[in-house]
Amino acid sequence: SEETIRQSEKLSAVGQLAAGIAHEIRNPLTALKGFTQLLHAKSSGADRHYFEIMRGEMNRVEGIVDELLVLAKPQTTNFQPHYVQLILQEVITLLSPQALLKNVLIHVDFEVNAPKIFCEESQLKQVFVNVIKNGIEAMPMGGNMFIQLKSDNGKLFIEFTDEGKGVPQDLLPKLGKPFYTTKDRGTGLGLMVSYNIIRNHRGTIAFSSEVGKGTTVSITLPL
Ligand code: ADP
Ligand code: MG
Repeated sequence: SEETIRQSEKLSAVGQLAAGIAHEIRNPLTALKGFTQLLHAKSSGADRHYFEIMRGEMNRVEGIVDELLVLAKPQTTNFQPHYVQLILQEVITLLSPQALLKNVLIHVDFEVNAPKIFCEESQLKQVFVNVIKNGIEAMPMGGNMFIQLKSDNGKLFIEFTDEGKGVPQDLLPKLGKPFYTTKDRGTGLGLMVSYNIIRNHRGTIAFSSEVGKGTTVSITLPL
């Protein structure tokens, strides 16, 4: 619809601006990190502790900048045929220490014969990291996360279901809006970036949620 087009134009304008700013932040940040590292090495006692805090905070800024920079990449970069189930498995392996630490069990149900799709591997990885991390973060006391992948009718369907705190119905439209976060240390960029990436793949991403029960993130990608 016209409203959808307007929304996505707005999003890509914001994205481009954000990516431009991210580039400008990166160089001074590299210098700051380098000199902090130098002073850290020469410090002792309380100073050492302060430098460690500074380093942690700078890493956080760097993480935000990295998320934003994805938006600066050209729309059709390096699309290659890949098995999405393998990409997903890699991401799950990457995140399993974090899941273990938070008492989250990840259960997978992948259609083994799902065909390859044309995609940008590093971008899909980023989407899966974002979505799985959100699921883990929604379950501070631990729980189960179910990840399902199947193909049907020329499409690949991927579903991530958690048993977390859920999202109130009236807040669902806010997901993916730049800087919308309910977390103390959140960036509110993960889903915006994910929406952009899935859109570049001509796919869709949708949320269904029940407060206190959990959330399902459904992604479809054309084969
Ligand atoms: P961030 O994780 O930095 O907050 P995101 O864009 O990844 O930014 O997510 C935005 C917001 O959407 C989160 O702060 C949270 O409120 C909500 N959200 C996303 N995924 C989930 C989920 N699986 N369960 C509950 N809330 C979620
Ligand atoms: Mg997130």
